[in-house]
Amino acid sequence: MQVAVVGSGYVGLVAAACLAEIGHSAVCIDNDSEKIRALQRGEAVIHEEYLPVLLERHGGRRLHFTTSLADGVRSSSIIFVAVGTPPSETGDADVSSLESVCVEIARHAEGSQLIVVKSTVPAGTNQWIRRVLHRNNGNGHRFDVASNPEFLREGTAVTDFLYPDRIVLGCDTETGAALLNELYRPLLDGSYAAGDEAVPVPDCAVLPARAIVTSSASAELIKQASNAYLAMKISFINAVANICEAGDADIEEVVEGIGSDRRIGSRFLKPGIGYGGSCFPKDLLSFRAVSRELGYDFRMLDEVMRINEDQRRRFVGKVRRALWTLKGKRLAVLGLAFKGGTDDVRESPAIAVIRSLLHEGCEIAAYDPAATARARTAFDPKAAIRFVESAYDAAQGADALLVLTEWEEFAALDLQRLRAQMRHAIVVDGRNVFSPESMAKAGFQYISTGRSEKMQDAHNVIQSTDAAA
Ligand code: NAD
Repeated sequence: MQVAVVGSGYVGLVAAACLAEIGHSAVCIDNDSEKIRALQRGEAVIHEEYLPVLLERHGGRRLHFTTSLADGVRSSSIIFVAVGTPPSETGDADVSSLESVCVEIARHAEGSQLIVVKSTVPAGTNQWIRRVLHRNNGNGHRFDVASNPEFLREGTAVTDFLYPDRIVLGCDTETGAALLNELYRPLLDGSYAAGDEAVPVPDCAVLPARAIVTSSASAELIKQASNAYLAMKISFINAVANICEAGDADIEEVVEGIGSDRRIGSRFLKPGIGYGGSCFPKDLLSFRAVSRELGYDFRMLDEVMRINEDQRRRFVGKVRRALWTLKGKRLAVLGLAFKGGTDDVRESPAIAVIRSLLHEGCEIAAYDPAATARARTAFDPKAAIRFVESAYDAAQGADALLVLTEWEEFAALDLQRLRAQMRHAIVVDGRNVFSPESMAKAGFQYISTGRSEKMQDAHNVIQSTDAAA
């Protein structure tokens, strides 16, 4: 099939590359000419595992890039729209890019086409898109509109797209549903996964993927409600972690106990400094606004957001308690991205925490395996923050080391070497990357999430008794 994808960001680019991977011809369109030029040169532009492989495999063959929406959409039977839907000042999603893309599509389309909304949008958006296409359709073309929300996670976006838990097809017509079923057939019948060159199947994947066909309104709601539920899970476990800290329980033990109940499950029960990124914060605000508009006061979402914000303040409080005063303290920071595996720093809790610490007069040396270039632009060039090339460089002369993003490589650091760089062996771990035992053994004062400082002291005593014996 010939497919166009408008918007070449984290979602659009991955979707286009994966659609080429499963056998379609895809053209990726963006109004950012610099980005399109880089993609035409074969540069991945975002940090995503397997994306460079797919660009190399299909770029210039089944996968093309252009800034011309007219050229891109003319020859395509399916047009995905994956432009950003950022929050407006009132909390509603700003769908103006989506609207302007639809106006352009209506002007340039040829023949009958299926417009598929991949962007995360408030309930009712598909109805508006139908109206906009109709109003601007000077050539009398037939459009069908469907919602196909995306559930990929940054960092594992390619495997999430190719081996999804489900594919939601929000179609109000049978032709739309048939066309999307045909498009995704290699994922729905398992034939893609069985191929010799397929991207490796992740351990937890359920094959083949399942299609869930719904109305477009239900599909829009499935996406917003899913993100709200996941954010709620994070805030819930963070609230429990705070109780553990006060009550001498260990959150990691508590998570194991709660998560082993199959009705609950252990995924997304990871305590830390809260969620961030370009999706959860804005999608919660948007879902809250939509609910209110529809006459339901969804106050639980306010609490989810409040706990999330509070988690960052609590973390800064832990750093203060560990160091007494903050002004002039040198801090090593590991992690800038909003989560491990990505270079995305949008709404990153790490950035928010660093801003607070800079405001308190700290000097910061920060390291991130992939997000440094993007993070640099988030700070005033005169701010007291240096970006360094390794965790060990960051630790040089530090009064304390803070872990703000859960990159796997941090867990594998040489703790003795790290300690040797630091002025004081203090680690405040906002992501529970290390274990209290290994930190005590390496001689660190270790402050983590969801464990009381009294418990950590106990670990230190055990280690020093073992060493003496
Ligand atoms: P992004 O900001 O990375 O990408 C959006 C792209 O659209 C940008 O490259 C931008 O230049 C382009 N664009 C904007 N207006 C345009 C126009 N008029 N014409 C052509 N291109 C235009 O955003 P993203 O993270 O890919 O998210 C896109 C949508 O998907 C959002 O609605 C988001 O909520 C949703 N979503 C994101 C994720 C994620 O993990 N990032 C996951 C699921 C769903």
